[in-house]
Amino acid sequence: MGASDRRLGYTSRVDSSLSPLIAQAARLLSESLHIVALVGAGISTESGIPAFRGPDGRWSSGHPGSNQYQSFLADPAEWWRERRAAQSRGGYSNWDDAKPNSGHLALADLETMGFVHHVVTQNIDNLHQLAGTCSISEFHGNRFKLRCIDCGGRWLRETFVHSSDSIPTCPDCGGVVKSDTVMFGEPIPRDAIQRSLAEAGRADCCLVIGTSAVVFPAANVPLIVRQNGGRLIEINPSPTPLSEICDVVLRAAAGEVLPAIVETLREVFPAGRPTPAPRDS
Ligand code: NAD
Ligand code: ZN
Repeated sequence: MGASDRRLGYTSRVDSSLSPLIAQAARLLSESLHIVALVGAGISTESGIPAFRGPDGRWSSGHPGSNQYQSFLADPAEWWRERRAAQSRGGYSNWDDAKPNSGHLALADLETMGFVHHVVTQNIDNLHQLAGTCSISEFHGNRFKLRCIDCGGRWLRETFVHSSDSIPTCPDCGGVVKSDTVMFGEPIPRDAIQRSLAEAGRADCCLVIGTSAVVFPAANVPLIVRQNGGRLIEINPSPTPLSEICDVVLRAAAGEVLPAIVETLREVFPAGRPTPAPRDS
């Protein structure tokens, strides 16, 4: 391990003591037919976005602020006023500059190579998509989008035209429009739950990356895979409630481990996963 892979645009720099576990994780991925990844805020810490429960996270540094769904429903106009004021103060600019890191890029490469079939992310930062991941469910929404609370329609923030001194409403159903990001107390969007649970139900392997695995229903994804006899691979520097039932636990940063897994698979399958032979009917 440790060689730089120019084709991938990142470097595998994992500690050599992890090599046997990396090899085991790569083998499990190559033996599995349908692989989902459940991803949490940990993968984006290497892009400069603090996790919720880390030392700089919002749980540690205070309160959910005005991001309460009940407050929004009670007075959406006030919520929009606060949001516009925060934006004009440049309140979100530290997140705007974030770029995908080697963990996001390697996860997208695993999809291209046929070793990840769907990503269920709890992140709202859009970094998976910027890295190239295509098949994705966003449990907690996307901070670059807006959503109608009635019909679930979504739009990119900058393409949604509305007057700057009123509550935006849905062009399709007239419902109130809010940020797509799921607020405290707000139900998870139904399309994300349905797709994630369907993917988990088909999966025989789940990569659990950078999540404390305590937020439900997202944490159900690996549990469903496990209940169906599938394998679990955890990538997290810290233990989680899932660690004990995982087949492989990699105690290191996602930005180190995922490139090493890609590199290992690339050595055996330079053209990606071989297409399975068609079954006899
Ligand atoms: P969490 O904050 O509860 O846990 C983060 C986990 O990542 C921890 O277990 C930690 O040990 C691990 N971790 C830290 N650095 C890591 C690294 N480099 N590689 C791998 N793992 C690492 O995160 P959560 O489980 O996703 O739950 C928090 C909720 O907060 C999310 O559901 C999300 O909606 C929201 N959130 C999102 C972002 C984002 O979009 N980037 C950031 C903060 C919070
Ligand atoms: Zn609508």
